[in-house]
Amino acid sequence: MTTPRPGRVLISEPELRTRIGELGQQIARDYAGETPVLVGVLQGAFLFMADLVRAIPGDITTDFIGLASYAGGNRSSGQVRIVSDLAMPVENRHVVVVEDIVDTGLTISYLRRNLEARHPRTLRVCALVDKIERRQVDVRIDYVGFTIPNVFVVGYGFDFGGLYRNLPYVAALDETPP
Ligand code: 5GP
Repeated sequence: MTTPRPGRVLISEPELRTRIGELGQQIARDYAGETPVLVGVLQGAFLFMADLVRAIPGDITTDFIGLASYAGGNRSSGQVRIVSDLAMPVENRHVVVVEDIVDTGLTISYLRRNLEARHPRTLRVCALVDKIERRQVDVRIDYVGFTIPNVFVVGYGFDFGGLYRNLPYVAALDETPP
């Protein structure tokens, strides 16, 4: 069986740059005078996080949390575990979770519950991509980069079996045999 390859580009580099710039400005406005901590969700959000923090003209701190699905693979089972925890407590901090994609919503709803239990001052979620059609649980996403249809995407942090995270754009995975 051949490995599926990246296909049609869904979100180009210029589109990413423009929209992430807008998100950065919006976050800076919303937290003016405050120093929020941006929590990147590994691994998928590492490129988005790097570009988003550079688009925020204001004081912030950063931290990362590594999650893994119990089932493995690329589709969420909803059973999530923390494989690498935050370095610093978030009690009384303004927290902005930076996530790659919200699909069923199970992962982010788990993470929201987990972080709420640490008593942040406020907690918001920023997701680069929202696949709203596939939502199984009602979860609030405060900042959304792009809403896309139900296609499996790779590139710009999104992987297929560990591959393609390094592409500078977001593409649909081409699963049709050559
Ligand atoms: P959820 O729990 O919302 O269903 O899924 C969240 C996780 O599923 C994401 O953080 C990501 O790891 C994975 N995922 C969902 N859709 C896609 C996709 O289109 N491409 C990739 N590479 N991962 C996805």
